[in-house]
Amino acid sequence: ASAQPANSPSATSYPTTHDKIASVQDTPYFIDNRFVSSSTDKFIDLHDPATNNLVTRVPQNTDAELQAAVESASRAFKTWSQTSVLHRQQIMFKFVALIRSNWDRLAASITLEQGKTFADAKGDVLRGLQVAEAACGAPELLKGEVLEVAKDMETRTYREPLGVVAAICPFNFPAMIPLWSIPVATITGNTLVLKPSERDPGAAMILAELCREAGFPDGVVNVVHGAHRTVDFILDEPAIKAVSFVGGNKAGEYIFARGSANGKRVQANLGAKNHAAVLPDCNKNQFLNAVVGAAFGAAGQRCMALSTLVMIGETKEWLPELAERAKGLSVNGGFEEGADLGPVISPHSKARIEGLIASAEEEGATVLLDGRGFKPDKYPDGNWIAPTIITNVTKDMRCYKEEIFGPVLVCLNVDTLDEAIDLINENEYGNGVAIFTRSGPTAETFRRRIEAGQVGINVPIPVPLPMFSFTGNKKSVAGGGVSTFYGKPGINFYTQLKTVTAMWTSADAISKKADVAMPTHN
Ligand code: NAD
Repeated sequence: ASAQPANSPSATSYPTTHDKIASVQDTPYFIDNRFVSSSTDKFIDLHDPATNNLVTRVPQNTDAELQAAVESASRAFKTWSQTSVLHRQQIMFKFVALIRSNWDRLAASITLEQGKTFADAKGDVLRGLQVAEAACGAPELLKGEVLEVAKDMETRTYREPLGVVAAICPFNFPAMIPLWSIPVATITGNTLVLKPSERDPGAAMILAELCREAGFPDGVVNVVHGAHRTVDFILDEPAIKAVSFVGGNKAGEYIFARGSANGKRVQANLGAKNHAAVLPDCNKNQFLNAVVGAAFGAAGQRCMALSTLVMIGETKEWLPELAERAKGLSVNGGFEEGADLGPVISPHSKARIEGLIASAEEEGATVLLDGRGFKPDKYPDGNWIAPTIITNVTKDMRCYKEEIFGPVLVCLNVDTLDEAIDLINENEYGNGVAIFTRSGPTAETFRRRIEAGQVGINVPIPVPLPMFSFTGNKKSVAGGGVSTFYGKPGINFYTQLKTVTAMWTSADAISKKADVAMPTHN
């Protein structure tokens, strides 16, 4: 066992450049508040997306190690679930303060492993930190209800933890998404086994260290690694009562089906194809900046990236200006001053995105701005794609139907708001949507008729703050989105209700005959 995660050295020294790492260390896993080297012989190489230099090797934990993590969480649950919510709140306050004081360090790990710019990585941390801050309000959120159902009888509800719960995370928000689970799962009294993405677990390892420092007892938060094998272990392990998944549709639909079939609660946020409807009466300058930021920021690797523009009427004439602004973005290593977007996560992802751009050309669309082939001078070996805009797109094209998850904006033209609404509603995804207009009534019509979980009115990425919940719709959530992340629904997901009916006086105590009719309390 070692004291620090190998790929996230102590708070005072951590990588802030894309330079080759002299001595690459394997990522440990985290069990009973200790960082432990896996005894596996199977590792997943993790490369800096800006250089493809090796950063660390991520273990595929052995079944025995995965079992040990669940046992650690099961042991911890016995005492953690008996602590008061005020005690857990005190630990959460410390956790919040520690995330804040390790903000740069967390962001640097994200830039190194995931590729997004340092400024964007700081936003990734902040959005997660805010979930932890909101979780500090749990004493209010965990309150039950009480009703005097008859003059000598009352019914009360309690919110109780589930037991050991698990989280399976995607690569694109290495801090924010683990923080959709760690605070909410633990403040409600559960213990957690978290599996970060095997492509960038560094931020989750730092968070684990901060959990220990904040005072979480051994086993309340454990972090395990691996790919499909680890996921199957989680889905089939009876001691795990609930699974939180965020990621793509292929994995998520499988996880939802298998986890649910095994009797677990599963919440699963999936892929997206977020549209923006643009009206000629909008503030053009604000729209152009908003869409360029939301389509190309994080190299388009956000589930709420604005990847599809529906240009209404004459707004299609703004496309050359849009392309000019997109062209002005700086594509560079995420640690470089002034970088607007970094590389995509892997060579495989780059090839997939370039394939979708090529398919658009083959199917008759126009590549108005072509980011293929771009390389910043300093980083010739990274997974680069510069902002790309595809116009004259139609609904039948692959670039429209598939989630691209890269810095690619596809643009369709329609004549009316009605047509825009119909087109967006026909799309099988329903994560986020935006409308750009200065008309209140137009925005209101859109808001009412649109089938998407999160609607932005002149707001390009309407990710709800944690006092609300992340409310995807249609194919962007599994199981009809019955269970959403954070906010009150997040508290509900991680707790089960116990309903107690009590009678404190009994006029019948001396009666010799049992009343066998269904009680009616009238
Ligand atoms: P992914 O589905 O490839 O991976 C997510 C997790 O699932 C990882 O931990 C991975 O190890 C595991 N996994 C991958 N394939 C698996 C399989 N076949 N069987 C079992 N487990 C598997 O997703 P990603 O590429 O890391 O993340 C990008 C995707 O996540 C995009 O589709 C994006 O839209 C989505 N996403 C959605 C939200 C949301 O809230 N709706 C937020 C962030 C990301």
